[in-house]
Amino acid sequence: MIFDLETTGTSCQLDEVVEISAVKVVSGEIVDEFSTLVNPGMPIPYYASEVNGITDDMVADSPTFEGVLRNFLEFVGDAVLVGHNIHTFDMKFIQRDAQRYFGKSIGNDYIDTLQLARTYLPQLRHHRLVDLADYYGIDAEGAHRALNDCRMTQQVFEKLRLEMENPSDAAKKVKKCPRCGNILRKRSGKYGEFWGCMSYPECKYTQK
Ligand SMILES: [Zn+2]
Repeated sequence: MIFDLETTGTSCQLDEVVEISAVKVVSGEIVDEFSTLVNPGMPIPYYASEVNGITDDMVADSPTFEGVLRNFLEFVGDAVLVGHNIHTFDMKFIQRDAQRYFGKSIGNDYIDTLQLARTYLPQLRHHRLVDLADYYGIDAEGAHRALNDCRMTQQVFEKLRLEMENPSDAAKKVKKCPRCGNILRKRSGKYGEFWGCMSYPECKYTQK
């Protein structure tokens, strides 16, 4: 199950969901889709509309997130959730709102294709979804609308699975954090070079 959110901004404290989509995948094929705009109950800042093209007018008659999230959770069931940058972004929003509206957390396992891409394509300088689409020659038309991003993520994920089966020499050298599984990056500090977890500041693991 691939999913994606569009929001009013990047703050998990202040911002709200304006669109949520999911695509159900069986043997590499999309077999079902869920997608709706959401009325966030706040004005959408212009810089957010710039990115996703979603305006106040478009969501004026849309449902609020409480009902949408209920339908979304029903749609995904206990499937493993897959998405791009969901570890630090999308999961936090839906966890927050599941807590807020239903007083519970979401127990689904999830796979972040951003972490996969950093692990298996360390040679790329950037790992945004559009960078990966570009690398694999996948059509990125309509990027930053949730359903399009789900479809792109699905195609990227299929490619990344092949990388996982047959990792490059560069990928084999990538160091993983033993505490949280994210990637360790070489950093330099006061006392010289060290390896630090990319989940910093959430995960403070370091290695000499
Ligand atoms: Zn870590």
